[in-house]
Amino acid sequence: MAAPNDDLTTFRSHAPGYWPQDAMADWDSHQWQLKNRVNTLTDLEQHIELTDVERAGVLLAGNKLAMSVTPHFFNLIDADDPDCPIRRQIVPRLEEGWTAPEEMADPCGEDSHMPVPGLVHRYPDRVLFLVTDRCASYCRYCTRSRVVSGVGEQQLETQWEAAFEYLEKTPQVRDVLLSGGDPLLFSDAKLEKILSRLHAIPHIQFVRIGSRIPIFLPQRITPALCEMLKKYHPLFISIHTNHPKELTTEVQEALGRLADAGVPLGNQSVLLKGVNDSVEVQKALVHKLLMCRVRPYYLYQCDLIKGSSHLRTSVSKGLEIIEGLRGHTTGYAIPQFVIDGPGGGGKIPLNPDYILQRDHEKVTLRNYEGETFTYPEPSEAPESDLIALKEQSACCS
Ligand SMILES: *Cc1c(COP(=O)(O)O)cnc(C)c1O
Ligand code: SF4
Repeated sequence: MAAPNDDLTTFRSHAPGYWPQDAMADWDSHQWQLKNRVNTLTDLEQHIELTDVERAGVLLAGNKLAMSVTPHFFNLIDADDPDCPIRRQIVPRLEEGWTAPEEMADPCGEDSHMPVPGLVHRYPDRVLFLVTDRCASYCRYCTRSRVVSGVGEQQLETQWEAAFEYLEKTPQVRDVLLSGGDPLLFSDAKLEKILSRLHAIPHIQFVRIGSRIPIFLPQRITPALCEMLKKYHPLFISIHTNHPKELTTEVQEALGRLADAGVPLGNQSVLLKGVNDSVEVQKALVHKLLMCRVRPYYLYQCDLIKGSSHLRTSVSKGLEIIEGLRGHTTGYAIPQFVIDGPGGGGKIPLNPDYILQRDHEKVTLRNYEGETFTYPEPSEAPESDLIALKEQSACCS
């Protein structure tokens, strides 16, 4: 019997879990995983007993953000725990139907920064290219739920040719981030067409893909995909994982294949109430990520997306987590905590206050243990000392 907290530190497989043993013949096929996703109330209730709040949430989700969960990921759900951190991320709840006054359909102001539909150009030198509206599973707090899954209030209408032409004639863009939806849901051939087109643009130095597929559908990270990706270096991948339980044996192996293909890996997490809002869980997550050769990149304060108030937590919680990591663990393990400025401000870093006081002469700091240190600003050598030194050097010559 596994110790209750062993998901925080160990990698294990949860297959076949809720599926019969004979499903294992197809388990490693990503096509099978996609075809057998849990996406109706009936499917869901076949495996777990829902609370009233969840059942109502599923019924409401149909015209907002679809529900869909791969068997691989579904197996991480604890059937006996309605507050299970995995469950909270992917099983809709009644609260999703309530929009708080501060919430928005497009909290990061992406639609107003699109020179071409599907291409967000907010920063001077880099763009976010939304290439699909589909994912392997849907996260209830998705910042793009206005378009993602295809059932919400808007449709993603990426203008492929116009987007490529914009990139070709905009030399200040040196970095392209492919996202969506999840770009790794495309076939190898389709993905390669996009990557090779970008690769052919001389001023594009760097491409990255944002994907939750290594977590939701590790079976998709095939050797053939890795061979193809390798041809388009420098290519980075930012994965998205929020809880250490998500890092299973299969996920660790999939990430290993990407790392072996020379793809530098980063992770983006969203700070979520009841999912990962504690130092203990975050520390376990970042430690497991390093073991998978993934460098924690960003920890996001949850965007003000409609229907997310039950999943959002305070900004001070995020700062408390960073405080609990810095100094207490490996520097490589610490993500940058950020808020995406509501309405389109871009990512703004937040850090605990380590500066107690600062003037022209010195900075007074505290360290992770609360001890105080003073760092004097550089002093300028007085002219008289310099003259004396010069005279000294003259007698030496
Ligand atoms: C997050 C984001 C990027 C990439 O930002 P980095 O800090 O370089 O990772 C680029 N464009 C948009 C619109 C983004 O939201
Ligand atoms: S994988 Fe990313 S894009 Fe897809 S639903 Fe989750 S957060 Fe949204």
